[in-house]
Amino acid sequence: MAVVKVPKKKAREILEILKKNKILDGKRKALRDNEFVYFPITDIEKAKQLNLEILPLDAPRRPERQIYKNLEDLLPKNIVERLGRLDIVGDIAILTMPEDLKEKVREIANAIKKLYPEVRVIARRGFHEGEFRVRRLEVVWGENRLETVHKENGVLIKVDLSKVFFNPRMKGERYRIAQLVNDGEKILIPFAGVLPYALVIARYKKVDITAVELNPEAVKLGYENIKLNEKRLKGRINLIKGDVFEVLQKLPEFDRVISPTPKGVDALSIVLSKARKFLHYYDFVHEDEIEVFKKRIVEECRLQGKECTVNVKKIADYKPHVYKVCADVEIKQNH
Ligand code: SAH
Repeated sequence: MAVVKVPKKKAREILEILKKNKILDGKRKALRDNEFVYFPITDIEKAKQLNLEILPLDAPRRPERQIYKNLEDLLPKNIVERLGRLDIVGDIAILTMPEDLKEKVREIANAIKKLYPEVRVIARRGFHEGEFRVRRLEVVWGENRLETVHKENGVLIKVDLSKVFFNPRMKGERYRIAQLVNDGEKILIPFAGVLPYALVIARYKKVDITAVELNPEAVKLGYENIKLNEKRLKGRINLIKGDVFEVLQKLPEFDRVISPTPKGVDALSIVLSKARKFLHYYDFVHEDEIEVFKKRIVEECRLQGKECTVNVKKIADYKPHVYKVCADVEIKQNH
């Protein structure tokens, strides 16, 4: 048995390397002290090849329940086959399930609790609705609430899923953007919601963020989230309640604009007009239309007298053949 010793600052990076090389021992827990993290590994030779510092330490085994990988290991096939993907937000589990499976909710709850012992609520997933993009959710098991505190990328995010939009699957995307940001930037985030992007970026970078959001409930939670994370944030967040299409007219240009645009809204022109160096513009696009989408952005840049390079990335499946995409736009300085 062995562990690799890594300085805390490099822990995330090394963890990815261990996973990629398939030598992280998932059955054991990592150990920590003030300066270092000790990841359990399965292959000492490989770790040596990766030039990692190896110690002959015995990391404790995880409890059996944490070893299960997914619901397939825990529920009969005829139930699992009819369940959609499971999301965890704080202590709430969100699951797509047909109406008649509500009868089996105790059995499903037992399985979910084996994977995620912290779960206190199970909610049945509906669709996003209205201009605030709130998801329709029905509590089918546990405490009758949709308010919780979610932990992601080292920040706490308080949400009330009956009143605001929040998507835990964007965790990796938020981390990606935070890593692109440089200290000192002035950043604009229209359509900011309960501030997940703003909080994650401000946690990692010393930046000045202006966030704009219309849903009063999201704005209230946004302020609470700034308070909740006060000690963790390197950057500053200034939250403005209002309509992006009005508020932005009165704002100056920013180094970077990040627009998690709501489905069905076209905000390209106004958000691009506020970007000096970079724009990250999210939209929902059919796979056959990605080139068209890219051309539309290039054309909008031209109209605004900006010389741009545009890269479109698929971020998530939205529905068959339709993706949530992000256009990473870089604006040349000499315009
Ligand atoms: N950035 C957040 C929220 C994205 S959903 C996140 O990733 O979690 C889109 C958000 O835009 C919602 O919170 C919705 O309330 C808000 N919104 C919709 N139309 C708006 C407008 N015209 N002005 C400001 N915010 C708006």
